[in-house]
Amino acid sequence: SERTLVLVKPDGVARGLIGDVIARIERKGLKLAALELRTLDRETAETHYAEHKDKPFFGDLVDFITSGPLVAAVVEGPNAIKAFRQLAGATNPVEAATGSIRADHALEVQNNIVHGSDGPESAEREIKIFFPDRF
Ligand code: ATP
Repeated sequence: SERTLVLVKPDGVARGLIGDVIARIERKGLKLAALELRTLDRETAETHYAEHKDKPFFGDLVDFITSGPLVAAVVEGPNAIKAFRQLAGATNPVEAATGSIRADHALEVQNNIVHGSDGPESAEREIKIFFPDRF
């Protein structure tokens, strides 16, 4: 079994899509090991997105991810990392597979509803950022 960090980003929460995302996770057979609504401070957001700190969109990305409440979850199950990324679809919603969360709900790359860790090292790093004393 494997763990991944999932976020329903502020756009997803504002649009009332928490339930849809959680339903897809459960329907797939993945388990929720932690689940919390919170608003990120800039420091936490910058740590989470550190790999993008030199990208031109970094400032906008930090503004966006701190703009309102998000849902942070630890999702667990066999192949949880890849399984959730398949549910999410490609980063750019207009390139995401038909039926995925991003294809069904989003149009633009920044406001793409969800985050899911992209590998075992990122999952471990990100879970520690969001749930430091629980895993
Ligand atoms: P996430 O890490 O949120 O799951 P990802 O791994 O699919 O997304 P990354 O390339 O790590 O995509 O980008 C992180 C986030 O930064 C994206 O989800 C998106 O919100 C934003 N982003 C990525 N590329 C761009 C871009 N060119 N312009 C604006 N925002 C972007």
